[in-house]
Amino acid sequence: MSGSSHPASLQKATRAAPSTARPQLPSIDRLLGLPSVQALVTRFGRTPVVNAVRDLVGNARRSTLQGAKTLQADWSDAAVASALAVALAAAAQPSLRSVINLTGTVLHTNLGRAPLPDEAIEAVATAMRGACNLEYDLAAGTRGDRDDHVTGLLRELTGCEAVTVVNNNAAAVLLALNTLAARKEGIVSRGEQVEIGGAFRIPDIMVRAGCRLREVGTTNRTHLADYANAIGPKTGLILKVHTSNYAVQGFTASVDERALGALAAKSGIPLMVDLGSGALTDMTRWGLPGEPLPQDTIANGASVVTFSGDKLLGGPQAGIIVGNRELVSRIKKNPLKRALRADKMTLAALEAVLRLYRDPDSLPSRLTTLRLLSRPAAEIRELALRLLPAVAGALAGRAVVSVEDCRSQIGSGALPVESLPSASLCMRPAKSGRGEGRALAAIERAFRELPLPVIGRISEGAFRLDLRCLDSAADEVAFTGQLGALASGK
Ligand SMILES: *Cc1c(COP(=O)(O)O)cnc(C)c1O
Repeated sequence: MSGSSHPASLQKATRAAPSTARPQLPSIDRLLGLPSVQALVTRFGRTPVVNAVRDLVGNARRSTLQGAKTLQADWSDAAVASALAVALAAAAQPSLRSVINLTGTVLHTNLGRAPLPDEAIEAVATAMRGACNLEYDLAAGTRGDRDDHVTGLLRELTGCEAVTVVNNNAAAVLLALNTLAARKEGIVSRGEQVEIGGAFRIPDIMVRAGCRLREVGTTNRTHLADYANAIGPKTGLILKVHTSNYAVQGFTASVDERALGALAAKSGIPLMVDLGSGALTDMTRWGLPGEPLPQDTIANGASVVTFSGDKLLGGPQAGIIVGNRELVSRIKKNPLKRALRADKMTLAALEAVLRLYRDPDSLPSRLTTLRLLSRPAAEIRELALRLLPAVAGALAGRAVVSVEDCRSQIGSGALPVESLPSASLCMRPAKSGRGEGRALAAIERAFRELPLPVIGRISEGAFRLDLRCLDSAADEVAFTGQLGALASGK
């Protein structure tokens, strides 16, 4: 049985069942008339409450028909109201919820990547609340172009001529390849046949873009001559992919952008570079690892550069295409652009974030991701020591809690070999030996099932919360305020 609570099927079931053995179930109307149920109607609305009452009675009826113990034995006003309140609250819970990311990976794809700065959040709220000049030129009173809201900023920040924005960087790569190299060859080094998580593989995306992959070089070494020898009448472009989520070490060689840019220019073909992470400013000044910047890539002769909005850039999910005016104009005319275009919320958030980049000195305090990434380990350790007594108290008897140094990952495939010194709260089950694994899993689950779920990770026999991303006083209050729910033994 499918568990339908449709009244007709209930009636049929009632008629078909033997009438003697069943306990009497209350009618739906009687339950709806109870004062405490009426109070739920005021809170949740009539239709959800009616549906919940039908489910309650229907489930009880089904369980008795199947000879099982009835789920709802107590039909008193209070018992019914409390069962309904639990069901209604669960159904009213949004699916997409805030969590506290203490996994130690700052740009965590499964947890939504970059947290946005207030400026971006306000811009999104404004854009979505009513009409806006998304594709309307306010000065001329004529139709405008949605890309214009970020074009000036990206030209200033990257030195490019033209800009277009799509849904994510995977879409940007697909769109650029399809526009510039459909039914032609795209030359890619064997050392850059990258797979990024979530089934995005360069060879596959090229096939989908209608572009033939022309591999050159070897896994560890590719030379300029390999590219030069592959160029012919069928060549559509040279594609360079930033190997953001792994490092090739040892006896290696790859061709730098400047040399490739010169070769592409000489041969009259575009050099496209997929940068992936898209740092827009040199992050080494804040003690972070260096990443290639679109402005350098353009200066080195790339004609089209693509990167993500929600990785190191610290903005919304977006794919940003910057480059040469003529090529970007062709990309914008591709019908696929219409299918992949960014919406007004994305563009509002992206514009607000890009504005922050105009004043790099204030970035660490204003751009959330940079603030998190550049947070000193000593400050995180201090926070861990401050939280230790409350967490240890909440888990008293269940776990031994300590503060340990650890290393955070930047995440989203960025800079995998680099990690940032940090500090964590580590919880080890109080009893070792048999059942220890289960106890550890129970601690992990208890944090995950808190009202504001706390996501950490289990490694080397401990549940670990890297506190790098517990960043504001409000976060700290939210975190400690719900620790009581752990102690109540969920
Ligand atoms: C992350 C990444 C992509 C995909 O970007 P999304 O914005 O996640 O779609 C493509 N190429 C490279 C090199 C990347 O690192």
